[in-house]
Amino acid sequence: MDKQVFEALSAETLPSRLGSNDVLKDKIGADHTHWNVREVGDGNLNLVFIVTGDKGAAIVKQALPYVRLVGESWPLPLKRSFFEYHALVRQSARDPGMIPEIYVFDMAQAIIVMEYLTPHVILRRALIEGRQLSRIGRDLGLFVARTLFRGSDLSLPTQEKKADMALFADNVELCDITENLVFSDPYFEAAMNRHTSPQLDPLVAELRADRDLKVEAQRLKHLFSAKAETLCHGDLHTGSVMVTDIETKVIDPEFAFYGPISFDIGMLLANFWMSYFSQSGHETTSGERDEMRDYLLETVDTIWHTFRAEFATLWRTERKGILYQARLFEERGDPLAAEQALNIVLDEIYREMLGFAGIEIHRRILGLAHNADFETIADPDRRASCEAKALKLGRHLAVNRHRIHCLSDIRETVERLQ
Ligand code: ADP
Ligand code: MG
Ligand code: MG
Ligand code: MG
Repeated sequence: MDKQVFEALSAETLPSRLGSNDVLKDKIGADHTHWNVREVGDGNLNLVFIVTGDKGAAIVKQALPYVRLVGESWPLPLKRSFFEYHALVRQSARDPGMIPEIYVFDMAQAIIVMEYLTPHVILRRALIEGRQLSRIGRDLGLFVARTLFRGSDLSLPTQEKKADMALFADNVELCDITENLVFSDPYFEAAMNRHTSPQLDPLVAELRADRDLKVEAQRLKHLFSAKAETLCHGDLHTGSVMVTDIETKVIDPEFAFYGPISFDIGMLLANFWMSYFSQSGHETTSGERDEMRDYLLETVDTIWHTFRAEFATLWRTERKGILYQARLFEERGDPLAAEQALNIVLDEIYREMLGFAGIEIHRRILGLAHNADFETIADPDRRASCEAKALKLGRHLAVNRHRIHCLSDIRETVERLQ
């Protein structure tokens, strides 16, 4: 591989450029003239190719020096590939088996070559089709608990955590995208915003004039930028999860940053609530997706309760960092102090998680990056009706999060809106 000057791959040049790599020869096939390359990227930012050969297959992902969705007018540094690679390595150590195997990383060319997940599909697509996947609640709950606990000061030696914070602190441009597109743009008439118009215009105007909501959105942005608790995935929506009936994998952590434990969980649950409200837009007869709606709310419960239970287990067994040390609690004969602190920490994560979920819902309906759950509802009246319910839930979560005592309260709100 050319280590010097960055050059974007194409389906034509890929085999000759990567064909001499021994790891790839072993995975794909020694004769690269037999490699078959297909571009599959459906994401907003990067190039993704599936490469198949005599022996097997691999995924080649390459960052471009700009945002793929927008073009060269929006530059974005190649180093996001470096952060994605380092996040993948850490996630793989913290929750083995949950991310694709990594074969090659080429920093100068911003290329990550990884395991081709097949017959996996993107979770968001599966949910739009109405597929109920029984494993994802537990797998994703464990994933967030393990990666977020094990990346924090609850677990890591403080030298290691501080060095890692310094490394990821340079992911400035991707954090800037979140800071603007998620936390600010949806709440005023920013240039790149769009929404289903004119149907949603009155509700959008109401939300943008809502002082309590704007203040909460900025408090949450403050948490996002200042609360460097753990290494977050940073883009953990249902488009970053690939599934079969028996396996769950998480991809695409290029937005990785040190932030609040609650951030990934909030973004993830928001995408299940949006899927819930989008289901009626995919029904051919009313009520056809009732079971699917139940399944989605059950999955939200399972993710959260699995997260809590696993986080508590890790708290009791792996709390080796600088925080809430056993020498003050268990080793002084006061294990209940550790349990009391655990409950306070979990409660804070819960309140923040609700807030981040609310903001994520808003930005997917009011901002630049919309999601397929709603976008694939062709009739704008039907789409707007689904989106309006989700927007109202988002407002409730963000503003009332300190008064929402448990997830079953949210289930009631969600079912009432529906
Ligand atoms: P982006 O950062 O541009 O969003 P993603 O990493 O999300 O790129 O990948 C884009 C698409 O490529 C995914 O939605 C998925 O369809 C496909 N893809 C990515 N990684 C894999 C993989 N390891 N195995 C199979 N398909 C993949
Ligand atoms: Mg993606
Ligand atoms: Mg596992
Ligand atoms: Mg991405």
